[in-house]
Amino acid sequence: MASAPVSSDRGDWQCAAESIVVKIRWFGIVMGYVLVQSRDGLRDAQAVRAILALGAVYALVDTIYQRRGQIFLGSWPLFVAVMETTFIALLCYYDTGLESPFRWYFLLSSLCVAIRYNRVSAALTLTTQLIALLILAVILQSEGMTGDLHTLPLTFVVVAWATWAAAALADTLKATGQRLEAANTALERHQAELERRIAQQVEALRASQARLIQQEKMAAFGLLSAGIAHEVGNPLAALSSLVQMLRRRRPDPYTETKLALAESQLDRIRRTIGELVAFSRPASPAIGPFPLDEAVQDALDIAKYYHPTKDRRIENRLGAQRLHVHGVRDHLTQVVLNLVLNAIDATTKGGRIELLTEQERSGWVRLLVRDDGRGLSEPDQARLFQPHFTTKPNGTGLGLYVSRTLVEEMGGRIGVESSAGSGATFWIELRTIEQAIPAPARASIIESEPVR
Ligand code: ADP
Repeated sequence: MASAPVSSDRGDWQCAAESIVVKIRWFGIVMGYVLVQSRDGLRDAQAVRAILALGAVYALVDTIYQRRGQIFLGSWPLFVAVMETTFIALLCYYDTGLESPFRWYFLLSSLCVAIRYNRVSAALTLTTQLIALLILAVILQSEGMTGDLHTLPLTFVVVAWATWAAAALADTLKATGQRLEAANTALERHQAELERRIAQQVEALRASQARLIQQEKMAAFGLLSAGIAHEVGNPLAALSSLVQMLRRRRPDPYTETKLALAESQLDRIRRTIGELVAFSRPASPAIGPFPLDEAVQDALDIAKYYHPTKDRRIENRLGAQRLHVHGVRDHLTQVVLNLVLNAIDATTKGGRIELLTEQERSGWVRLLVRDDGRGLSEPDQARLFQPHFTTKPNGTGLGLYVSRTLVEEMGGRIGVESSAGSGATFWIELRTIEQAIPAPARASIIESEPVR
């Protein structure tokens, strides 16, 4: 059956219009029965009742379709108009002719078309009604039923007038509905945009808060390191010059060996303090290309002072080619250090941590920090980069959150692959600036300097 589903854009209007049309139809059927029962002098009351019964079946089908959100014969407005016109003309014919009160049903039919469809359909319906009225007049004349012919133009003018008014009103309502719809869509778009911007601002605020906390931690660490360097530096210098002075006195071989050993240990203390101070100085904001392996090495140089490191094996397997990436070098060092310290925390004594690069697509490098620790469950992975997610008693849960911000600022991405109990591999994807710059000769596996 040629039913038309109600499309979503015009849906509201069509549903409302269809509900009005169905009510008009039922009203017409009921009124028709009242008119038949309450009047005498009809040409054939039985025929009128039969036509009304047909009309009731049609109204019933229409109602069922309307309840399902569809329009019965919705794609055939002209067919419906012709059918209704014939139906009304027959009612008039079997009632009392041109003066039958059923002639006003033409008005109801035109109203329905004007509400449901457009002006063109309304005009075509009107034309079929005019033709039907003329045919009816001719048939009645031929059958000797003269009647009052003046009712013909009057009926037609009133129907045309009401149809025009209804079509104009329906058009205005449709246009207003469309304008409201457009305004509503624009409002929803603006609201979504506003919500997106607020979410962005909240995220930016969170990021800057987290970075502030991290920076404060680093500043406190820097202050402490500088203080220790200052306090230890002077006695260290004094001890150093004392040892050198004693060595200049040409001591016996045994003392000379011990003094050399003491000097090398003093050197080691000086280097350690130097590295701590260098790391804890405020991060240089300089942006530019830098060698990836150097930033990684800086991080490992600091990680070795973390006490549990001595029970782990850290393997730096960065490839022989020196890759340059773009960004703030100190930031990448901070990120790698955080990943390495997390990996140390996740592993037990004898645990293994590996750093390596992969080049899956040209122009990009993937730095992997892989450990054989306890790994991460899926729910934990989903919350990993959210601020304040931590499973450590003294953790802040900001390390990975800040790491993600720093990597994204470099135009890169960070992520993790892991399953509970079988280690974790954190990856950082960065765009490379240039490739294949020969690296200075160095070992492919660098174990962290044992802390003695
Ligand atoms: P914090 O170290 O202060 O807890 P992070 O953001 O650096 O903050 O880490 C968040 C959490 O992610 C850690 O508490 C830990 O549970 C988990 N995590 C990070 N790295 C690993 C890893 N390599 N293996 C297992 N869990 C990890």
